Amino acid sequence: TYIVTDNCIKCKYMDCVEVCPVDCFYEGENMLVIHPDECIDCGVCEPECPAEAIKPDTESGLDKWLEINQKYSAVW
Ligand code: SF4
Repeated sequence: TYIVTDNCIKCKYMDCVEVCPVDCFYEGENMLVIHPDECIDCGVCEPECPAEAIKPDTESGLDKWLEINQKYSAVW
């Protein structure tokens, strides 16, 4: 899965949402999040993000952000 991280906070661009083929972006408290179970790992959104906030979960040190993505996408 891909994960939205802190650079997304207060970013007003929604380019990622528009390109996602499965519409798995959701609104978090002050940023967007990706639903980890819905993301099909296509990677299309990563280069579209102008804030470089989207990272693959294979990158280390992202546990906290994975939790935030899980938490805020689960309420929908
Ligand atoms: Fe959507 Fe693909 Fe990005 Fe996952 S990797 S959030 S499926 S665009």
